[in-house]
Amino acid sequence: MTHVFHRNPKQQLEFAVRGEGIRLFDQNGKGYIDASGGAAVSCLGHGHPAVIQAIKNQLDQVAYAHSSFFTTQVCEDLADFLAERAPGDLDHVYFVSGGSEAVEAALKLARQYFVEAGQPQRRHFIARRQSYHGNTLGALAIGGNAWRREPFLPILVPAHHVSPCYAYRDQLPSETEEQYAERLAQELDQKIRELGPENVAAFVAETVVGATAGALAPVKTYLQRIRRVCDQHGVLLILDEVMSGMGRTGHLFACAEDGIVPDIITIAKGLGAGYQPIGAMIASSRIYDAIVAGSGFFQHGHTYMGHATACAAALAVQRVIEQDGLLANVLARGEQLRGELRSALAAHPNVGDVRGRGLFVGVEFVGDKAAKSPLDPALKTHARLKKQAMQNGLMMYPMGGTIDGVLGDHVLLAPPFICTAQDISEIVARFVDTVQQILPA
Ligand code: PMP
Repeated sequence: MTHVFHRNPKQQLEFAVRGEGIRLFDQNGKGYIDASGGAAVSCLGHGHPAVIQAIKNQLDQVAYAHSSFFTTQVCEDLADFLAERAPGDLDHVYFVSGGSEAVEAALKLARQYFVEAGQPQRRHFIARRQSYHGNTLGALAIGGNAWRREPFLPILVPAHHVSPCYAYRDQLPSETEEQYAERLAQELDQKIRELGPENVAAFVAETVVGATAGALAPVKTYLQRIRRVCDQHGVLLILDEVMSGMGRTGHLFACAEDGIVPDIITIAKGLGAGYQPIGAMIASSRIYDAIVAGSGFFQHGHTYMGHATACAAALAVQRVIEQDGLLANVLARGEQLRGELRSALAAHPNVGDVRGRGLFVGVEFVGDKAAKSPLDPALKTHARLKKQAMQNGLMMYPMGGTIDGVLGDHVLLAPPFICTAQDISEIVARFVDTVQQILPA
């Protein structure tokens, strides 16, 4: 019997008792390489001394001061740090405790912006069928993850969905990348026209899809074309970088690689790297200024926003990433990871695709490679892969179930940014062993 409600009662879990570098250790002393950073969180690995020291120092000063009474230097410094590095005029940072809260704040900010701007009829949100934006009601409403939404459908606010950018499955052989990107942009344009542009508030997308499709990056020019469509209709563009942001793709903000600036961006996981729960929404000056000039204040808030200890952890994490030049390592090790996975598994009949950006890497499994048909969902391949990987001392993040009508099995690898070339080869060796054990070729 367990009193812990957030744990699946059917799941037998070991206790994590120690973390060091890229490894977690259980109560028996067994080590696990954290090749998924939990769920793409632990980008500095475990037990990082500089981050621990920064948290201790903050606790010695002040752990928490409610944001309606005080600000703290560390909160101001972290906001400055992010605003200086965020693309374009994304200059206004709103700290929350995690990804879903960041997305909720983004949706409400977009809505309030239009109320202040004298366009209160703009109320529709459009997102993509292959997406995950969080489990709170607003985030779940816009997300496209069918099984997570299913029981709650009657209480979700209506949202609208268009196709994801999923070249492996949806780009036609007759299409160039540009033509495919244009077809998707036209689909969004069509959807906005259908709803009436004057009624649409925002389009929401993950820059690189994480939890529903394993590191699915957009094709070149897709986001630029999407940005153009949004601009034509006065629709805001919200990019969700809760998973893909904060260096995971080799760029502090993933959209920098796509050469566009959204109106609002959300970040979380890698921001505090798991040392403290923290997320943020960053808004453009245009939006911030409209709110300040209007009612003066964003009508939102949470008890723990701008939490001093969480900000101290995040600032320390971000300084380490910058000072140690870890983004260059993310790019190099990411190339290595994809390269080694491809050469080891290219011939495997069930490995359909190895993809991603930086140290954000997805492997999609299929029943038949040519048809790209899924494995029998009753086999629960992704869950069996995870279990076997844990036996092999490897943490990887599995995904499965009905996704956009496709019953898929995916695995996400998101190793810490501190991985060496040798660590990556060790991850590949354990991953390949795991695949061979569950799906003997
Ligand atoms: N957005 C994205 C893109 C995510 O990947 C996640 C978490 N997997 C969330 C939002 C929700 O974040 P959280 O679990 O911290 O609420």
